[in-house]
Amino acid sequence: MPELPEVETIRRQLILKIKDKKIKTVEVKLPRMVNVAASQFEKTVAGAAIRDIRRRAKILIMDLSNGYSIIIHLKMTGQLIYDGKTGTGKPHIIYTFADGHELKHYDFRLFGYAKLIKTDEVGKLLNKENFGPEVLDKNFTLKNFLDLLAKKPNAKIKPLLMDQTFIAGVGNIYAQEACFCARVLPTREVSTLTEDETGRIYDCLKKILALALEKKGSSVDSYVDVGGEKGSYVPLLKVYGREGEQCFSCKGKIKTIKLAGRGTSFCPACQK
Ligand SMILES: [Zn+2]
Repeated sequence: MPELPEVETIRRQLILKIKDKKIKTVEVKLPRMVNVAASQFEKTVAGAAIRDIRRRAKILIMDLSNGYSIIIHLKMTGQLIYDGKTGTGKPHIIYTFADGHELKHYDFRLFGYAKLIKTDEVGKLLNKENFGPEVLDKNFTLKNFLDLLAKKPNAKIKPLLMDQTFIAGVGNIYAQEACFCARVLPTREVSTLTEDETGRIYDCLKKILALALEKKGSSVDSYVDVGGEKGSYVPLLKVYGREGEQCFSCKGKIKTIKLAGRGTSFCPACQK
């Protein structure tokens, strides 16, 4: 699933490509992707311009000039591709701009959505999700992180990092990578973590997410950027998807377990 680095990559590229562009037509090929009747979606969006594209957690918010916003969640396999390359499967929503360019929304496993709501209702919708702080926000300090951890003494650290109401934007890939980087087992309970360990987890999260963003994300499955290109973080992954392979640090074997229902890889020697 696209996580913070992937969704933020898409947001930044969309700003460059479509901000201030006028949408001439929109075609909803798969009505269940949207929250209103396809014809209503098409009629409301056509003729509006893209004012801004925001992100909160893994959600993209396209604000239109007519008082509406489109809330997009890519979930597992969503792709937003501008012109050129084709995505996986068939496009479900096609936005055609007044200058002839196109943005196509693909989602071959169909978990994602595009919801049309009034812009002044976006805040209410986001509040309902109860998202935690954005990890790359410069106002998200170590003290904030420690205060949040103090409220969850019995939680296991890796599933906690993935909990969007704890901190926002981290999923299965980067939670595993942060635990390896911090040399902490993903199964550790928060109350057992030392000050050094919690400090390392905080530093590792910030460092890994920033670098993954710089590399335009990890294409471990169908994720591609707005140009249809893969992200280049995969060669930098230390544990995710490396079950049975050699640890880059100690040459031991990477082990994989199920933790809170999700495959979780770690090095039993490097992580304590
Ligand atoms: Zn190791």
